[in-house]
Amino acid sequence: MSSKLRIVGYGRESTRDQARYGFNLDDQEKKIEKYVDIYYEDDTYEFKMIREEGASAKSLDRPKMNEILTLVKHKQVDVIVIHNLDRLTRRVKDLATLLEMFDAYSVSLISITEKIDTKTPMGRFFIFLIVLIAQWEQDTISDRTKRGIKESARQGNYAMLGAPFGYLRDPEDNHKLIVNDEEAKVVIRIFESIAYKDYSIRSLRNELKNENAGGRSWTDVAIEKILNNKIYYGTFSRFGQDYDNHTVPIIDKDLFELAHIRMTGKSTVQRKEYVYNNMVVCKKCGNVMHNHSSKSKNGKVHMYYQCTYCHIQVSEKEINLNCEALLTQELQKEKYFNDIEELKYKYDELTDILDKIPADAIKYDTDYSYLTGLLCRKQEDMVKLDRCLKILANGQEHTSFLGLPYSEKREFLQRTIETIVYDGKSKSINVRYLNS
Ligand SMILES: [Zn+2]
Repeated sequence: MSSKLRIVGYGRESTRDQARYGFNLDDQEKKIEKYVDIYYEDDTYEFKMIREEGASAKSLDRPKMNEILTLVKHKQVDVIVIHNLDRLTRRVKDLATLLEMFDAYSVSLISITEKIDTKTPMGRFFIFLIVLIAQWEQDTISDRTKRGIKESARQGNYAMLGAPFGYLRDPEDNHKLIVNDEEAKVVIRIFESIAYKDYSIRSLRNELKNENAGGRSWTDVAIEKILNNKIYYGTFSRFGQDYDNHTVPIIDKDLFELAHIRMTGKSTVQRKEYVYNNMVVCKKCGNVMHNHSSKSKNGKVHMYYQCTYCHIQVSEKEINLNCEALLTQELQKEKYFNDIEELKYKYDELTDILDKIPADAIKYDTDYSYLTGLLCRKQEDMVKLDRCLKILANGQEHTSFLGLPYSEKREFLQRTIETIVYDGKSKSINVRYLNS
């Protein structure tokens, strides 16, 4: 077994590159060999050149790139040397994937032109930036996709797969929905049974199942999904926005709302959604306060936590009102603290490097043009870093505890909150955190 460093050079040329000086494969190979010869002692390494011909950098799926990836995954390479970064890929996202993978297998990447060595702090900082930027680009892309879907929804298109029960895709215009008369009868029956006939979801489910209504299998969730879908009164709901008069309605909005109110009181799923379940403690006796709910005249469900010994109770709404600001603050801290701290650290590190460059330059008598190039790049890094910080700060501003879905609220509370203490006498609420 050899303990020599295994260095692989990777060169790539597309058909278009061949005409450009410095980009054809022979030139790349010469530069890489020269670099390896200068920076590594003879007899301490094994060198192999991998040449990719006529392949574009638009995808990572290239024969020789696959060979590199196999070497990395089998730990048969320690260092990869390239002439410049776009020999690997032209896509930030692919570069991020590669850098993360090289990092995971302890492979260092050296790009001669950009003077990047991923084993140095600056190189690692570069990886960090690239990954952040790739993430940011992806988020922007998905925003764009969302905007496209919104525009399409505004035009009355049903931008989902298939069709909801009760509807068909319009054979004349596949993007639109038309009513399926047979299924629509079942939909009306579901809403009316819940709204007017005091059915429970379970009893309705059993009835529909026994009759094989609409020729589908019926579950509680399937019925709740129908009761929750605004499309039945003609409104398409997507990414938190409602598009009224979108589709031909099957029922009117009043029936929908009435059924909805009744269902909230009956649903097995909804009943469990006490956000502070098992966390509210009575200050007087120290017991955990139990969940219970009541319905007001208009059918609205109110959730409470009560102490059965002391006969006091507090509503979930009150706890929300009292704790939201605090919980949101904690959530924002938890979610963004590490990212922002790390960025700030890198920022300071970069400032230090920028400060030291002139002194180092005099000490090592560095070439002037190299120095200005380096300064320019570091300053660009600063600008990018600044942008990343702003993106993070913006995300932080828009995070709120009450805006989280139920399951995330629970998870967050379980890892941060010990108890919420309710004082029935002064009607005050106090949050006790874990580890504090
Ligand atoms: Zn009590």
